Order: sequence, then C-alpha cells, then structure tokens
Amino acid sequence: MQPPPFTGILADMPNPLLRAHGLHKRYGAKLALAGVSFDVAPGEVVGFLGANGAGKTTTLRILAGTLAADGGEVEIDGIDPGRSPLAARARVGYLPEHDGLFEGMQVEDLLRFHGASRGLAGQALATRVAELVARLDLRAVLAARVHECSLGYRRRVALAAALVNDPAVLLFDEPTHGLDPLQIRAFRALLRDLSPGRAILFSTHVLQEVEASCNRVVLIDEGRIVLDAPLAVLQAQAKAAGSSIEDLVVERTLARARA
Ligand code: ATP
Repeated sequence: MQPPPFTGILADMPNPLLRAHGLHKRYGAKLALAGVSFDVAPGEVVGFLGANGAGKTTTLRILAGTLAADGGEVEIDGIDPGRSPLAARARVGYLPEHDGLFEGMQVEDLLRFHGASRGLAGQALATRVAELVARLDLRAVLAARVHECSLGYRRRVALAAALVNDPAVLLFDEPTHGLDPLQIRAFRALLRDLSPGRAILFSTHVLQEVEASCNRVVLIDEGRIVLDAPLAVLQAQAKAAGSSIEDLVVERTLARARA
C-alpha cells in the first residue's frame, strides 16, 4: 500500500498558539531533531506519535522551555521564549514523561506550591486547587506524600500541577501512562473540556487515544516530521484503502526507513 501524501499544514495557519520552526537538537553524536516544524492552533488536540527514540520528548521539552534547542524557533502565543522566558512559560502547562514532583511533599501542599509559583494566592489559589482536586479526583491522596501515591494518582497530580494556572498551551508527554480505564475515560473528557481556545499537543504510543481524543496527528520519525494531517483525513484515507490509521502510521515510518 502506498503511504498517504505528506499533508503538512504549516504554511498558512492563522494565529497559532504554538509554533515550532526548524528545531534542531543534538546529544553528542546523536542527531535527535533534524528540523522539526509544525504549528498548533486554538481548538486543536494533536496526537504526537513516533517510535521509541523518534524525538517526541525532546520536542516537547524544547517547546516547554526545559531544554534548549541547538537551532530553530519556538513561539508560544506569539511570544519568543528565548526573549521572554517567564511570559512564555506562564502560558504553557507541561506534563513531563518523568514528573520530577517533590517526593516528600504532601499532595495538597504541592498543588498550592505550584499555584503560588504561577502567581496565584489567597482565595484564587484555594479555589483553583479545589477545582483541580475535584476534576482529577484527587481527594483520596490530598494528605498523602507524593512518593506514597500510585502511578495513576501520581500522573493525575502532575497533570493538576501542569493545569494550575489554566494555561493556553498544553504539552503532555504520555499523559495516560499508568491510568486505569476509568481514569483514561476521565482524561478524554478533560481534554474535550479543555480544548476550546487552547492548543493541546500530547505524545502517546496508543493509537486508540489519538482516535478518541485528537483532531490532528503529527508523526515524527528519526527527528523529522513525516506526517501531519487532520485525523478525519487519515480516517478517510484508511477507509478508502481498507486499512487502519495504525497501518498508515507504520507505512509512513517504514517509508522513511526505506528512503
Ligand atoms: P520514547 O517514545 O522512547 O520516549 P522519544 O520519541 O520521546 O522516545 P526522545 O526521548 O526525544 O525520543 O529521544 C530522541 C533521541 O535522542 C533518542 O535516540 C534518544 O536516545 C536520544 N536522547 C534523548 N535524550 C538524550 C540524552 N539526554 N542524552 C543522549 N541522548 C539522548
């Protein structure tokens, strides 16, 4: 089966909230990113796919401002993080692959700490923490220390920390890893509620997640974007070819390996 044509939509997207252009990153001899470009507009939920080592985490870290690129540009809501790192970071909620939460801190204190570090105080802080606790079902672990939380709770605590200041750009690295089926369903509902007006990019290896939650797919392979298309287009292509999105993704990855 022929892989679908590359349908990059970078060129003329109006007012993207997130813009990556020509990102390059090298770790010693290893070229991790070789010119990664894509934009994410308000209302888009983008599934960021790629094999192990393809460059997803590296891209997300650069976009979140926790790793410096060797080349290329990032814009967050029109802001260059290189020039205005605090203003850019204030607009980003980042759920890292390894959460880096303070192990010995109680969950409630941790959420309050994250809120305070994002400028919330007093009643606004208390209200926001209460909203997130309810939304992410964290009441049972509020008094627990982070290291006492199960993986699923821990993931949700980290998600709450990422959402605390209600950012416009959400970057999630394998957000459903460790969640049980009920929590995965709750996460999908959360994404649906969050998506209006926000740009959401999340990495995953689970195509079911992409089909359930995303309206666009970006596939990276060996540090290069090899597919960027609306989910509906991929679904139509898969249907016409009598195949599946998984087949299209695998074909596109293999096409690069063969090239
Ligand atoms: P996974 O799905 O396994 O999490 P990924 O798509 O997120 O993979 P990255 O973690 O971005 O991939 O890694 C891209 C490439 O860069 C890989 O070859 C990886 O081994 C390499 N790499 C990542 N971080 C480092 C590092 N700190 N030092 C050296 N090489 C690294």
